[in-house]
Formats: sequence, C-alpha cells, structure tokens
Amino acid sequence: AYEGILRRQAMRESAARTYARSLPIVPVRARGLTIEGADGRRYLDCLSGAGTLALGHNHPVVLEAIKKVLDSGAPLHVLDLATPVKDAFTTELFATLPREFADNARIQFCGPAGTDAVEAAFKLVRAATGRSGLLAFTGAYHGMTAGALAASGGAEDVRVTRLPYPQDYRCPFGIGGERGAQIAARWTESVLDDPKSGTPAPAGMIVEPVQGEGGVNPAPDGWMRRMRDITASRSIPLIADEVQTGVGRTGAFWAVEHSGVVPDVMVLSKAIGGSLPLAVIVYRSELDTWQPGAHAGTFRGNQLAMAAGTATLAHVRENRLAERAAVLGARMLANLRALAADHPCIGDVRGRGLMIGVELVDPEAAPVDGGSEAPPDPVLAVAVQQECLRRGLIVELGGRHSTVVRLLPPLTLTDEQATAVVDRLADAMAAAER
Ligand code: PMP
Repeated sequence: AYEGILRRQAMRESAARTYARSLPIVPVRARGLTIEGADGRRYLDCLSGAGTLALGHNHPVVLEAIKKVLDSGAPLHVLDLATPVKDAFTTELFATLPREFADNARIQFCGPAGTDAVEAAFKLVRAATGRSGLLAFTGAYHGMTAGALAASGGAEDVRVTRLPYPQDYRCPFGIGGERGAQIAARWTESVLDDPKSGTPAPAGMIVEPVQGEGGVNPAPDGWMRRMRDITASRSIPLIADEVQTGVGRTGAFWAVEHSGVVPDVMVLSKAIGGSLPLAVIVYRSELDTWQPGAHAGTFRGNQLAMAAGTATLAHVRENRLAERAAVLGARMLANLRALAADHPCIGDVRGRGLMIGVELVDPEAAPVDGGSEAPPDPVLAVAVQQECLRRGLIVELGGRHSTVVRLLPPLTLTDEQATAVVDRLADAMAAAER
C-alpha cells in the first residue's frame, strides 16, 4: 500500500511540488516532533509544516480545543460573522502583540493562506496611501499569488523595487556585520531619494525580520530600526511579514520585538492557526480607509483554525515558549558551529531562536564572485537531506541555491530531542561528505 500511494501520487500530482519529491514518506501518525510513516519508520520532523507547528504535531491542547468546538454544535462555517470562538481568538492574539502596536490596531481576517494576507496588506497600504509601488528585499519570500510573488522576485507584472537585505555570509558588498548593514541602508535611502532611480511612489515596504525560505537570514536589529526610520520619515507604511517568524519561533513572541520596531502592518499566518489554515493582517487603525465590502474571501471564518490558534497562542504565552526557543536555539547554534571544525562542508551556521540554517559549501572549490567564501554546493545539500532522511530526520532546504539546511523544530522540543537532531545532522553530513 505504501509504495502504491507514493507511485499514484507521483503520477497524479505535478512535479512542481518541492520537498514532497525529496521526502518519500507516507505519514500516518504524528505527535510532537515525531512522524510515523506507513512503513512503520519514525522520523524527527524539523520541517514542522514549514514552521506552522509551534507546538508540534497533535498537541493535546490543540486537539482539545478543536474537539470542544466540534462537540459544541457551533457552526463551522459562518463566513466572517462574529462568533465567541472568533472573539476568543482576537482577544488572545491582541494580548500577545506588542502593546504600542496592539493598542491602536485593527484586524482583518484574510485567508486562508499567508499569501492571501500578504495580498491584503498590499491592497490596504495602496488604498491608504493612494500610491502603488512596493518595496521588497533581495532573498525575500512572501507567497505564490501575483503581488506576493512579485515581492519575492518571481513575477514582473507588479511594480516592486528590490532593495538589498543585509547579509553576513556572502554579503553582496563584500562586508558583513554592522558595516554591511549600514551600506545596505544607505543604498535604500539613495534609491528612494533619487528621482532618476525610476522607483514608483511606494505604497509600502515589506520585510521579513528573519528571512526563512531565503536561507534563514536574520536582519540585524539596527538595520530593522533604520528601515523603520527611513519609512516613517517618508510616510511609507512598513509591513512586517511575520508569517514564519511569529508565535515564539525566533525567541521572542513576535520577531519585531527583538529590534523594538513598531510596524504599521503585521502579516500573520502559519502558527497562529495551530496547524489549521488561518491568516490575518493587523494594522494601525489610521490605515483603515477600507470601505465596507472592500475586502472579501469565503474562507475567512475558519472556526476550528481559530480555536486551534487560540489554544496555541495561549500555550506559548503561558509556558514562555518563546524564551525556551531562545535558549534552545542558542544552544543548537553553538553545537552546530562547533561541528564546523570537523565538517568543512559547513560554510555558515545562522539563525535566531528555533529558526536555524546550515549553509553547505564545497570547501575544495574556488570562491566565486571575488569573495573569500567557498561556493554553495547544491548536490551535497540534497545528499545531506537524503542522509538525514535515512537517519530518521526530516529537514528542508532553502536559500538562493537550495544549499541551506533549514531546521524549524516545534518550540516544545526537549533537550534530548535537540541533541538528537544535531547528532543526526552531523552523522548525515559525515556520510554525505564521503
Ligand atoms: N511569508 C513568509 C515569510 C513565508 O515564509 C510564507 C510561506 N513559507 C508565506 C509568506 C506564504 O504563506 P503561504 O504558503 O501560507 O501562502
């Protein structure tokens, strides 16, 4: 049955699926960090639904919350009417948001995916400013619908000005750290202020506080504050895409808290639905120039997702799981960095909280682009991913060259599990390097 399911799926579904092709698993049961395949094998799942499962698979508080709605006889589909379930969700969500932001914010349910909320954010700032251009960054990922795709560098039909996202490793300016970030910021200012740059009047700037799909690139806090100053002084709304970084993932409940930046719009999805589809934008109420009916969507009222999300947000808050993610993430980063001495294929280890990336390179090959760092090694990266799988560890690849092993374990990870993840990855690298 197992082989048959994989074979039929491979025939019926487009090869456009990415990780599914490299992970020949038929999951039948899951709990916490662990997935069990139809073949009886168990895996440590560090993909976590692309960062969605803050509490891991099937956490009891999430299951209880879903069952409670099911047993209550409440309607499951009510478009976006007010319900007690929705009231509980918005109350809990606003309690977790930075105070200066939440005190003067409105929420708009979008949905059901992160990309829908990104689209709504663009639409909102365009309506509010009367301008149309968008500012986005190199290495960004915001989704697969037209506007979000354009902001991710994948479509040309929406007017997006691409600005440099600071990077320590393989920095395009040849300098990482604070200086590289300062140069990136000055570049942004000069593009915005140069009438000849061809930049259309920007309706908003969208930024990920830590780029996920782009290869786990944490933005320096000082640079984030510069972006806030640059946009505020030019009346450009700042949109923080916290679809992947939210709900404790980076070691703060929301990643903007690291820099103290108060954005104008926050785009939230993934973990806020506690494993079910849910996406919202929360924004400064002055931006709320939308007329009734200006934004619609059939699936904006998913009651089960709201209940699962409320339980997840409350559990992360009550158990201080963001702080736990910071401690555990720092330890995993240190352990992975220590491995670099034995594994020359590790070019870089970076991340924030439990959003971790290990960049794999070919140490024998000559550096490219006049830089000093070894070039990325996509063949090795796939080999490491396969060796991980053989050892019962699920990881995803990301980054411009798909050479960054991404770890997004649940925030409920135990110390022992964290050690097991690092050990299995080390073994996989040793096997793939040969
Ligand atoms: N923004 C960010 C930062 C993301 O990581 C993602 C998904 N990986 C999205 C937007 C799009 O979300 P979705 O896949 O639910 O449309």
